[in-house]
This record gives sequence, C-alpha cells and structure tokens, in this order.
Amino acid sequence: MAEELTGGCFCGALAYRARRGESRTVAHCHCGMCRKLTGGSFATWVEVPFEGFAFTRGEPRRLRSSPFAERCFCGDCGCHISFRYHGEREEITAALWLTAGSLDRPQDLVPTDVIFAAEKLP
Ligand SMILES: [Zn+2]
Ligand SMILES: [Zn+2]
Repeated sequence: MAEELTGGCFCGALAYRARRGESRTVAHCHCGMCRKLTGGSFATWVEVPFEGFAFTRGEPRRLRSSPFAERCFCGDCGCHISFRYHGEREEITAALWLTAGSLDRPQDLVPTDVIFAAEKLP
C-alpha cells in the first residue's frame, strides 16, 4: 500500500493527506459517541501519525467531544474526518485517527481491531 493516504469529505470542501506510519491499526469502534457523531452503527478508524497529517483543502470544524479528545468534521456536509486525544502522554497524542470512509481508497485497508465491543449494538 502507498505510504501516503489521501481523503476528504463528501462535498469536497475538505481534503487531506497523511502518512501511513508504522501502525497498521484499523479499528471498528462501537462506542456510543462514535455512533452519534457519525450516524452509523459503528465507526472505523485508521491510525496515522499526527505529524505528517495536513488538510490540503479547507478548514474543518472542530468539536471537543470530551475533555480529552477533539474531532474534526466538515462544516458544510457534516462528514466526520478525524479524532485525536489531547493530554500529556506523547504516546497517545502522537496518533491521529481518520475515518476509513473519508479515505480515497479505504478498500486498501484491513480491519485489525474491535474496540468498545461491550457497547456494540445487538
Ligand atoms: Zn464536506
Ligand atoms: Zn468510538
């Protein structure tokens, strides 16, 4: 797979590029926040290094979805783009999580993890 990932929102107002990095984590998240924020039964997140990520078109709306996390989405079409932890611990702030569905080529990715499985819908 290419080391560079590209993607964007539904309406085209936002585009981004990211490095694939060393992690191959692609996680289906069943938490209630992802459900409400994406409107889907679950969200699929792709881990990339925060360093190397950039919006190449447009400026996202930012949502502090909890005291320790920020999410970016398109203010025009509402497409959910990213999630990032905030805090002191470099090992968690070094990562950015991208919605698999916002990538140009999500078919290149292989899911590796299921998280918040206890909140999974029946
Ligand atoms: Zn959009
Ligand atoms: Zn979640």
